Amino acid sequence: MLLFDSHCHINAPEFDQDRAEVIARMKEAGLCGAVVIGCETRELEPLRSLVAANPGYLWGAWAYHPEYRDTEPEPDVEAIVRANSTKDFVAVGETGLDFHWCEPPRDWQVERFVRHIEAARRLGKPLIVHAREAEAEAADILRAENAGETGFVLHCFSSSPEVARRVLDAGGMVGINGNVTFRRSTLIQESCRAVPLERILAETDCPYLAPVPRRGRRNEPSFVSFTVAKIAELHGCTVEEAASATTQNAIKFFRLPGGASPQQQGGPA
Ligand SMILES: [Zn+2]
Repeated sequence: MLLFDSHCHINAPEFDQDRAEVIARMKEAGLCGAVVIGCETRELEPLRSLVAANPGYLWGAWAYHPEYRDTEPEPDVEAIVRANSTKDFVAVGETGLDFHWCEPPRDWQVERFVRHIEAARRLGKPLIVHAREAEAEAADILRAENAGETGFVLHCFSSSPEVARRVLDAGGMVGINGNVTFRRSTLIQESCRAVPLERILAETDCPYLAPVPRRGRRNEPSFVSFTVAKIAELHGCTVEEAASATTQNAIKFFRLPGGASPQQQGGPA
């Protein structure tokens, strides 16, 4: 069974003590790869090194996260393109809108989001979209900007089936993560059920949101198996089918070369 974590932050300081072990556990758990995401300028170079040290296994994506107000020169379209131009960087993200952490006026967020969409279009790479308490607004911008052409995923989807429908209609994918396994997440479960399997990406967003039965602990990519098992339960298919579908979706969405198995990666790093 092959798994893929389409959204993780193993570049975060939470993994500084045992990153190699975390990557080894990913391989043991059957992950054939993961996309690692950088959210600020200072995260870019360390992310490059991490991805370069794990060729064909870890893939990068970078954007200036909507949670961070412009505390330094705002990256223009050229800078975003440059950051994501190498082959091992497979998406622009995470970008989007965050109405939970950021007070109005939020014009700067929308403008930044649109610049990221433009950069993705120029690169011919998909977008990883973060939308918190702003899912419908983000979906509308993505539709208006024709982002479905270059491809996008609304990651950590936590909204209603109606919003999921809007994402699908705009040509996007829906990212399902560990919070779908929480007992009270009935809305996310309902949305997950409403999205066809071929439009779902499985993700951890680690170190956050560890799935049941690891809830409350530091999350890590190997735990994506619990989320995939929940997706299988909600879709009435086998875990193998859900694993295969979400992995193939990720390979296609991120335009990865082939689908290397963990065995081909030379074992634990
Ligand atoms: Zn994230």
